[in-house]
Amino acid sequence: MAHGSLADLLRRIDRGGYGQYRRLSGTWELDRIRIEVQRVQADPFAPPSRIGVTVPAEIADLAPELWRGKARATALASYLVRRLAVNLRGGAFRVDAGGQEVLARSSSEVSDGIARFRIGIQLPGKGRTIDGVTAHRLLCEQLPEAVRKALDFRYETAREFVETVEDSAALRDKLPELGLVAFVADSALLPRRSGIDDRPLESGGISFRSPGSLATEVELPNRGTVSGMGIPEGITLIVGGGFHGKSTLLRAIERGIYDHVPGDGRELVVARTDTAKIRAEDGRGVERVDVRPFVGELPTGSDTGDFSTENASGSTSQAASIIEAVEAGAHTLLVDEDTAATNLMIRDARMQALVGKSSEPLTPFVDLVRPLHAEHQVSTVIVMGGSGDYLDIADRVLMLDSYTASEVTGQARAIAATPTGRAVEASSFGPIRHRSPEAGSVDARGKNGRTRIRNRGTDTLLLGESEIDLRALDQIVDPSQVTGIGLAIEKLARSGALTETIAAALAHYEAELAGVPVLGVGSLDDFVVPRALDIAAALNRLRTLRIRDLKP
Ligand code: ADP
Ligand code: MG
Repeated sequence: MAHGSLADLLRRIDRGGYGQYRRLSGTWELDRIRIEVQRVQADPFAPPSRIGVTVPAEIADLAPELWRGKARATALASYLVRRLAVNLRGGAFRVDAGGQEVLARSSSEVSDGIARFRIGIQLPGKGRTIDGVTAHRLLCEQLPEAVRKALDFRYETAREFVETVEDSAALRDKLPELGLVAFVADSALLPRRSGIDDRPLESGGISFRSPGSLATEVELPNRGTVSGMGIPEGITLIVGGGFHGKSTLLRAIERGIYDHVPGDGRELVVARTDTAKIRAEDGRGVERVDVRPFVGELPTGSDTGDFSTENASGSTSQAASIIEAVEAGAHTLLVDEDTAATNLMIRDARMQALVGKSSEPLTPFVDLVRPLHAEHQVSTVIVMGGSGDYLDIADRVLMLDSYTASEVTGQARAIAATPTGRAVEASSFGPIRHRSPEAGSVDARGKNGRTRIRNRGTDTLLLGESEIDLRALDQIVDPSQVTGIGLAIEKLARSGALTETIAAALAHYEAELAGVPVLGVGSLDDFVVPRALDIAAALNRLRTLRIRDLKP
């Protein structure tokens, strides 16, 4: 603990050179709230200074039932930091509070009744001198007051928040024993305000109702029995005319890997954590992936059993992404025709007749979905309004008509009973080969030798000298996840765990690194603990990645 008070120090350095702010470094106590100045910016234009705030249990006074258990602790932390952000809005402070998802983030933690926050602050200057009066107001008055206000919540509201999150997590945990890959509760509201506004549609939204045949009841810890649509393992086809809500349903499912805030509309829409949204992404790099299930002999003569490219086509990029996702442990794939490569999805009877198999390297997904399930226990949910060939291979077909879902599997079977003359192009998927990265091909250090991990929104991860393009990863929803992915990759690379196989590295991550305290070692930046699948997806898009060994 530094001697004297923070207020005294600020008075002494007022109007001194800006660099004097570094004397703030260390721990201060303000009305029994502990403030740790962890990093001081060197000048007024540098990235914000970083502050840790610790509120001891007797001051925080958090009822134990609000934070006991992992889901509740994460939820309460999220609830508190949202309140803190509101109270510190529009000024010098930076509070990473997040959006519609409730995520484990470094900006806020609750454990043993102690509340901790990590925030940024732009320390005020007048020109290149210290504005001690404003700094005093911010640090000694506004900050402790905002922290107290954040903790002075209505018990009922906080309870609803943590119970909602706990129910969502419990529902997700139950999916495997129910044999489901996803669940969409009755009366869930799926549509969002816009492509850039993730809040629920304000008016005119039709809430979800399960078709009778897929209706499932689940018992939840707080809400009791809920009913909704269970999507079983296997192959599920979502059909319907354009603009009838297919993509909106799939998008809700892809976000079902996350818990949502009360009022979001998707609180009880969940998917298993090992669900991967797949899309075409022409131009991406691919490093030594065995894409033979999808790609046979290429006119270039390159070996598709050990396939690399700096510039993949729509179809090969999607093929590589599928194989990589399964390699990383995905057991459910989500594919939307809107963002898929047509020639990887379908090849109908007439095209088979015109272009012989000998001159078509691609095996369409329609012939591989079933083998993928049989051989690798990977389920698929596909939105497909454009090709009836998928009726042959679906376990069930869901129709959306004016946002209303019904099951049409019987009709689909009847239609599929009339042969189209289409030949099935594959009878097996084949093994997934595991890859071991080359040490040194993954480096989080910049030219100056210092670790460089930064996000550019959800689009780009800056890692060392590399820029990783993440725009095709629809399940990355928060810039702080991008930072978290960077931290995970850096720690895996540094520990040597990365050079085993990617799958083994991810197992190591889950067992040893996937928590705020461990992942945050050595960093003061805001981050979210990322999913293993998203770490792998980012790694696979790192253009310096080199694979040393491709297991048979
Ligand atoms: P599709 O994929 O079938 O073409 P979309 O899912 O893209 O359809 O939805 C088309 C439009 O309808 C979007 O603007 C979407 O926000 C809106 N929409 C989707 N579901 C609902 C719903 N349940 N209630 C109201 N509007 C919806
Ligand atoms: Mg669509």
